[in-house]
Amino acid sequence: MFEVVIGLEVHVQLNTKSKLFCSCPTSFNHKQNTNTCPTCLALPGALPVLNKEVLHKSIMLGTAIEATVNQTSYFDRKSYFYPDSPSAYQITQLYTPIVEHGKLQIDFEDATSKTIRINRAHIEADAGKNIHDGDISKVDLNRAGTPLLEIVSEPDMSSAEEAILYLKKLHSIIRYLDIGDANMQEGSFRVDVNVSIRPKGDEKLYTRVEIKNINSFKFIHKAIEVEVIRQSEAWEDGVYDDEICQETRLFDQVKQETRSMRGKEEAADYRYFPEPDLLKVVVTDEMLETYSKIPELPDAKKKRFIKEFSMSEYNAMVITATVEMANFFEEMMAEDGVSAKTAASLLTVELQGRLKGEQNVTNSPVNAKKLGFLAKRVDDKTISGKAAKDVLDYLMENDEDIDSVIEKLGLKQMTDSGAIESMCDEIISTNPEKVEQYQCGKEKLFGFFVGQVMKASKGSANPQVVNEILKNKLG
Ligand code: ADP
Ligand code: MG
Ligand code: ZN
Repeated sequence: MFEVVIGLEVHVQLNTKSKLFCSCPTSFNHKQNTNTCPTCLALPGALPVLNKEVLHKSIMLGTAIEATVNQTSYFDRKSYFYPDSPSAYQITQLYTPIVEHGKLQIDFEDATSKTIRINRAHIEADAGKNIHDGDISKVDLNRAGTPLLEIVSEPDMSSAEEAILYLKKLHSIIRYLDIGDANMQEGSFRVDVNVSIRPKGDEKLYTRVEIKNINSFKFIHKAIEVEVIRQSEAWEDGVYDDEICQETRLFDQVKQETRSMRGKEEAADYRYFPEPDLLKVVVTDEMLETYSKIPELPDAKKKRFIKEFSMSEYNAMVITATVEMANFFEEMMAEDGVSAKTAASLLTVELQGRLKGEQNVTNSPVNAKKLGFLAKRVDDKTISGKAAKDVLDYLMENDEDIDSVIEKLGLKQMTDSGAIESMCDEIISTNPEKVEQYQCGKEKLFGFFVGQVMKASKGSANPQVVNEILKNKLG
């Protein structure tokens, strides 16, 4: 039997206003090659200057993963030629990165968890983009020099599931810290997956392959699965040494297979050396203190929600999965007299189920304050949970005051027991034979009476009150 060994390298684009070593804007959706300057175009004589915001965001990440922040770190030069890199080298941190020895906890469904060690996180500059357009290729350097934080795990994951849990946790932390938008489709959260297998119980690491540029969690999961099968089959067929070599592979989503892209370069191929154009990076005690202040992270928030709002573990997990959901929920709870149960269900089931296309909780037509007020109207029994769905349907299309919508749609719940009582009397007196059957033991008929009263009230009677009154009257 085999054991799977996975180590992940994640390139996170930091959402700073300007680039890593110059003051060009980082927004690269502008006209091609306009967000450039002599530094990021690597013109002779232009010198890089480190952007402090990059340092700040890197240290925030380091704090979040409980890592060591090196108060002295260095930049190194990694040489390679590619058309989208005008300098023919990349500035990165090889020997002493800004962040080292961190960890991240992943949680399984059965409530157990595992700690994944993080080897390092280092700062580096991104390249530009090659655009292939028919027979010609173009280069856009708007992205050249954009700051990346590369977060490298130890080979601690042993299944595709664990890898995905790790990535989702890291993704969520980056969004919580607001150090990057971590959009996988747009390439601001890029994952390289290193995979190898070994006989169970063996401590040594076997040859790994690196699968690059997979842009969704679903495809990463699949890529690992098919690669593990390929390696296991090679082993079982006795051709492991011929077929498995250290190389870079890509995942073909259509054929559902990994394919060799190029042989793996050795560090020596890059001719690394200390970057001569930059000073060592010094983080003073003062900077360290300021930069390591971070907001509440998903795990802590989840624990707090469970305690503070007496929520179920499941609801807390769903709601704290993104910082936007969590904030939305807390804003709902700020409304007086709202129960977590009503708020959670209106948010995670009803609102989420009604958001379409590009809509999400941050641009929802019904904002948190409003949905919180709707929850209040359920909890103070003005309307039923069912009526709340109708109100929400209406609010998704119309921006109106909730109480007037309740009025207008006639959804106000009848809680006046006198009125409900006379409806019950009416139903009982018009159905004497059913009453007799019920009293002779046909208990199923109770539902019939409730239904008739609800119908008579056009659904507005409080079902709980109806139940109580009928129980009394029918005996
Ligand atoms: P490089 O910088 O050349 O890509 P590293 O040694 O920094 O190589 O490792 C890169 C990633 O590969 C790390 O996430 C590490 O955990 C992972 N890794 C290293 N060896 C293995 C292996 N045998 N199987 C799976 N992952 C591995
Ligand atoms: Mg690598
Ligand atoms: Zn520039």
